[in-house]
Amino acid sequence: MKAVVLVKPAPLAAGPLRVEDRDGLQPGRGEIVMRVAGCGVCRSNLHMIEGDWVDGGVPAFTPIVPGHEVTGTVEAVGEDVSHLRVGDRVGVQPLWSTCGVCRYCMSGAEQLCQSKQITGETVDGGYAEQMLARAAHAYPVPDSLDLVEAAPLFCPGITAYGAVAKARLSPARSAAVFGVGGVGHVALQFAKLTGAETVAVTRGGSRLELAEELGADRVVDASGGDAGEVLHRAGGVDAALVFAPSDAVVRQALLATKPGGVVVVGVNAEIGPFPFADEKTVVGSLLGSRQLMREVLDIAAAGRVRVVTEAQPLERAADALARLERGDVRGRLVLVP
Ligand SMILES: [Zn+2]
Ligand SMILES: [Zn+2]
Repeated sequence: MKAVVLVKPAPLAAGPLRVEDRDGLQPGRGEIVMRVAGCGVCRSNLHMIEGDWVDGGVPAFTPIVPGHEVTGTVEAVGEDVSHLRVGDRVGVQPLWSTCGVCRYCMSGAEQLCQSKQITGETVDGGYAEQMLARAAHAYPVPDSLDLVEAAPLFCPGITAYGAVAKARLSPARSAAVFGVGGVGHVALQFAKLTGAETVAVTRGGSRLELAEELGADRVVDASGGDAGEVLHRAGGVDAALVFAPSDAVVRQALLATKPGGVVVVGVNAEIGPFPFADEKTVVGSLLGSRQLMREVLDIAAAGRVRVVTEAQPLERAADALARLERGDVRGRLVLVP
């Protein structure tokens, strides 16, 4: 089977990826083999490939197959798998497996499990024709969803949903989404579903247009100056959700948030000065549990949220990543074997 592998982390221009022919996969106990239909191209993939996360132990080994928002059909089923059959349509999120017994796993916060495996970072991922998955962490994809278009539900979708769940939104509240890229454009839709007033903060023509198309109540062009100041002067928002990978943007979001409000941060950042007397909450957000993932799929199947996707051939993974790096992507690129 064909796979795109990361040979050794390095800047994209140095060619760290290689297309390989590998032996077909066999499922172990509790595992399935997926025939991959689509795998989204995520900024996290870019961080790992370019070596940004080497100090944190990612990738766990090389050569590794990147990719962690994966859909496909079940091609083989290992022992002790009862709820999936060959031919089933499934998807896998970055949470490849969890221990199932720790305090986080037992309390609905399994994304915090300290024994978790991460798809495409500590085990081989979805930039390939086949991928191994834990059956217990593979989710049936509803028939109404196209497999290629559904792939990003498994990272931007769950990331956005997990973040919105932490933002304490309601029809009486307002939310600003900073960054209308792969995750932000989905978060905007989930925020709208809560009934909250939504503000999209982003740079550039096509992203502003996308935010308007998705029904943002207000759009702020961040290329025109400090969006935090603009929103602060206009009275502020109850919650800010940050998916733009920038310390400056996180500080703008903090400023834009009203006293007592919530800033949900989905990127690594230096937060800067933090005036305690405003009683703001800053909360990090990583993915979401299996239950939340199922909810994302149900909401998408009902047509209440959509991911804007563009399919790309698997062999062109490096080009797709370069476009992501340049900011030249509307919604999400999905690699198709
Ligand atoms: Zn991702
Ligand atoms: Zn655990």
